[in-house]
Amino acid sequence: MSDSDIYACQRCGAIDCKLWRPYSTFDIRLKCLDCACMTADPSAPIDASQYGADGSKPKPGLAESAELPYLFRRSWEIEWYIPAVPSASGSYWGYGAIPMDPMSPEHGDWLAWVALPLRMVEAS
Ligand SMILES: [Zn+2]
Repeated sequence: MSDSDIYACQRCGAIDCKLWRPYSTFDIRLKCLDCACMTADPSAPIDASQYGADGSKPKPGLAESAELPYLFRRSWEIEWYIPAVPSASGSYWGYGAIPMDPMSPEHGDWLAWVALPLRMVEAS
């Protein structure tokens, strides 16, 4: 088992929370929300506070378009990071293939990711 098999942020070690990965199929270095926001573009860190509990942020210009379905008004991407949604094959759903559609037979994979906390819950 390699480090890449563990569902943990490879920068800060966060576990039991939503993780993202670069969209490239061959790069599965996982990052938590804050690490992805900090490192996606080191010269211009992304404001992590715009991401809600479900891991999405409003799409510019579309957030107020109430006639559009929720999925179209939100973005789950952090620059070139996409949600690292584990699939039954032991890998992650590829860019554009994540089963967000409720009609998808694998929709449960997506729901399981959405149900993860946005950040690791610190032991108190
Ligand atoms: Zn992290």
